[in-house]
Amino acid sequence: MSRRDELLDLAERAKGFMPPSEGLALYEFAHAYGRRVPEGTWLEVGAWCGKSTLYLGAAAEATNSVLYSLDHHHGSEENQEGWVHFDPSLVDPVDGRLNTLPTWQRTIATARLEETVVGLVGHSTIVARHFAQPLNLVFIDGGHANDVAWADYESWSPKIVLEGLLLIHDIFADPRDGGQAPYEIYLGALDSGAFVERASEGSLRVLTRVV
Ligand code: SAH
Ligand code: MG
Repeated sequence: MSRRDELLDLAERAKGFMPPSEGLALYEFAHAYGRRVPEGTWLEVGAWCGKSTLYLGAAAEATNSVLYSLDHHHGSEENQEGWVHFDPSLVDPVDGRLNTLPTWQRTIATARLEETVVGLVGHSTIVARHFAQPLNLVFIDGGHANDVAWADYESWSPKIVLEGLLLIHDIFADPRDGGQAPYEIYLGALDSGAFVERASEGSLRVLTRVV
């Protein structure tokens, strides 16, 4: 099995919410970009257990890029007890809080991606305030509450270089299909005039910085 297929297979089997078609598209778009602009600095907001990290990590490894994978690892509102996306096996018995960091670390170690993927454990806006490195690729898949999604967009999108990629997950134009916050930041990115849409797959959108 090729290294690519090994990683895509691990990604498909990892715990998470991304359908295989969208994961594969995430890999393909990132890989195509990395082929054009190798040795880039990439960042994902929202790591959970490392599923999207593997899709992006596979593309990063193949193009000598580095992927920062940011999460406070205590889950979003919609992952807490009583909500639909709650997974009791991820609760830390010591403090009773959700903790996806051990699972995320095992995911990256099993995939042998520790020299490509760097974990950033913390709140998105706080990390962003102290992060000066320009970014070639940003994937936003963090909290889906309105203020959280907007804060992610406003914190990270200004750091994207010209012609760099902004990928956003869970975009549903119809409120019956899902929450509206990612869709609104996607519209905001287009309205700003700084980004144009290049491609899409399912609820994934791929934008490029044009100014
Ligand atoms: N990209 C992942 C899924 C991410 S789920 C995948 O496809 O596999 C959303 C994640 O965002 C959760 O793990 C949650 O802990 C994280 N998150 C939510 N708000 C955050 C914030 N303000 N700062 C850092 N991480 C946050
Ligand atoms: Mg998502």
